[in-house]
This record gives sequence, C-alpha cells and structure tokens, in this order.
Amino acid sequence: MTEGVTLDRDVIDGVSARYWAMQDDGRIRCDVCPRECKLKDGQRGLCFVRARRGDELVLTTYGRASGYCIDPIEKKPLNHFLPGTPVLSFGTAGCNLTCKFCQNWDISKSREMDRLMDQAPPGAIAAAAKKTGCRSVAYTYNDPVIFLEYAVDVAAACHEQGIANVAVTAGYIKEAAREEFFARMDAVNLDLKAFTEDFYRSLCTASLDSVKETAVYLVKERKTWVELTTLLIPGENDSEAELEALTQWVSETLGPDVPLHFTAFHPDYRMRDKPRTPVETLLKAHAIGKAAGLNYVYTGNVHHEETGSTYCPQCGTKVIGRDWYTLSDWGIGQGGHCTHCGGVIAGRFEPKPGDWGPKRKPVRLAEFAKHWQAAQQAQQQQ
Ligand code: SF4
Repeated sequence: MTEGVTLDRDVIDGVSARYWAMQDDGRIRCDVCPRECKLKDGQRGLCFVRARRGDELVLTTYGRASGYCIDPIEKKPLNHFLPGTPVLSFGTAGCNLTCKFCQNWDISKSREMDRLMDQAPPGAIAAAAKKTGCRSVAYTYNDPVIFLEYAVDVAAACHEQGIANVAVTAGYIKEAAREEFFARMDAVNLDLKAFTEDFYRSLCTASLDSVKETAVYLVKERKTWVELTTLLIPGENDSEAELEALTQWVSETLGPDVPLHFTAFHPDYRMRDKPRTPVETLLKAHAIGKAAGLNYVYTGNVHHEETGSTYCPQCGTKVIGRDWYTLSDWGIGQGGHCTHCGGVIAGRFEPKPGDWGPKRKPVRLAEFAKHWQAAQQAQQQQ
C-alpha cells in the first residue's frame, strides 16, 4: 500500500475513474493495481495520473497523449502478431512501477504533462491509425493500465475501424481492472522483468507473483496472444539459475508456444553504473530457453539475425527471417502453417507478411484530431 502525494498548487483536472473504494478512514483506495494507493483529497497516486478530487478518483490524462509514431510491430516486440505490419504507438505520462532501469523514463516519470501532450480524442487516434495504414495501435512507452479508462475508449474506437489493439505492459494490475482492460486487447507484450521477488521489490517496488498471475490469466483464461520480454541486466537478473527457473516456468506453466524475447539493457535513468548487456549473455539466455523446451526464443536490441528469426518447431525451417526489423524469408501459409512441413506456427498470421520494413515515422496527431473533430461536427449538424 502506498500513501498519496500532494503537490503544491496542484489543480486536479480529469475525468471520473473506475476501480476505487472509499475507506472507513476517509481515504480513497485506488484498485487498479496491487499498490492500492490511499488518497486524501488533492493527492495523486504513485503513478501520478490517478488522483483524488473531492470524493472521487479521477484520471488526469484522459484524452492527452504523446509520442505518436508508426513503428514495425516487431519493435514492440511482437514477432508472431501480423508480422511486417505498421503499428501506431503512443503513451501518456506516469507509471505504476518505479523501475530504476527504466528505458523510457522521460515519459514514464514525466510530471510536465501539459508540455508533453497532444489533445487526442479516442476517435482521432483510431482515424489516424486507419488513415496511415496501420493495422494496430500500441499502448506503450508508459504502462497503459494506469490510463485504463482512456485506453479502453481508444481501443473500442480502433475496433470500430477494424484496427487491432496491442498493450505493452508490466502486467501489474488487479483482477477486476484487468478484466476490463485486456478484454479490448488483441495482443500483449508482457514484461517479465526478472524471476525473483527480490528484483521486483528492490528495483521496481512491485511483485513477481502479481505479474505471473496476469501472465497465466492472459494465456490460459483469456487466450490473448502474448509474447514475453525480459530485459537482461548484468548482475541483476542474468544468472543461469534464474534464467533456468524463468524459462522452465514459462514452458511448463504458460506453454512452449509463448514467445520469449531476451533484450539488451543500456545504462539509463537511475541505473547508469551497469554495463550494456553483452551479446554472449543474450545467446546464453537463448540457449537456456531452448533447452527448457520453448519453441520461440529471441534476442533483441542486438544485431543477431539467427536468434532474431523464427523457425518451425516441427521441421526447423526458418519461416520468418528477421534482420533487426527487416523481414526476409517467409514460410508461413494459410492458417499459420509451415509451408515446408505443414506444422503449426503459433501466432496471428496472414498468408503474406506486411511490407512496412524497419521505418519509424512520427505522426502529428493534432492534424488528425482537427479533421476528426470537423467531421464529427459536420455529422452532428446533419
Ligand atoms: S494505478 Fe496508480 S493510483 Fe492506482 S494503485 Fe496503482 S499506482 Fe496507485
């Protein structure tokens, strides 16, 4: 449980939030994540964006977001969900974890929301994704569970336009909130940051058990397409014993078809005393994952085509060649079957890959928002 924070001259502006309860002691408890911040009037939760205004909880970032960019879907990373297609990514501000190694800290730790954010009604984001040819929208950069009410409205607008939704999250969320949040998500990249409670507690002030619960819920109950990412930090979560425990748990509990990405750390935020992850460590982790029986293990943030590619678990044929974010070989046919042996490749595939390539293209959402609002007004006048 976390006490709220009060800022000097803070004006709480926002929309009504869900998942909270008034307690006997007069404080409001936020029930979105297991942190359960308890707030007096005018206080904000640890994530900074959920706050108490009078006798209700509000989300202060509804309709305001930043960092719009079209990326290859492989960058999320998702290697088995509409490969080669463009995804419109965005984030807001704040985060419900406190990772000392955060690689997006300028957004997740931001307190200057007005400077960072464009006005972005849900319909305008969906319209921007449609207009730019994106197949999906990614809720990323900071953890989307903290802006749940906004994320689910954007996701509903995207579904109306035939656009899929992708959440990039640490999965630190309570049961009722996760039902609503993930009901709208077609694919998830879930951060499995390490495999010890000590790591989660001391470096993220969170808990491994909660994240494991979310992973089991998504894969086993909801059957959402999930890929896992573990950022390997030298000396913190890269021992053979920990990697063996992590990969065996994934293989035995979630199943061998859940892809696992081991990605390289670079010194950032409050962890600048650690070196970058050596390629050898990533290759060691890759080998441990394969030995645990996982069918799809990848290395990321390094140039290594062999461990960045996808192989058929039945016949070993390279079915998707990947060099960074550029696809080469393609051996997946109708229904997601290997064209060589007919074996099933787990994931969501179409007969042909997309051709977006490695490009990264910033999007000025204000333009789309202007056109979308004008179209809305015209419709209302009819
Ligand atoms: S979502 Fe934010 S306010 Fe709610 S419990 Fe988590 S950190 Fe606290």
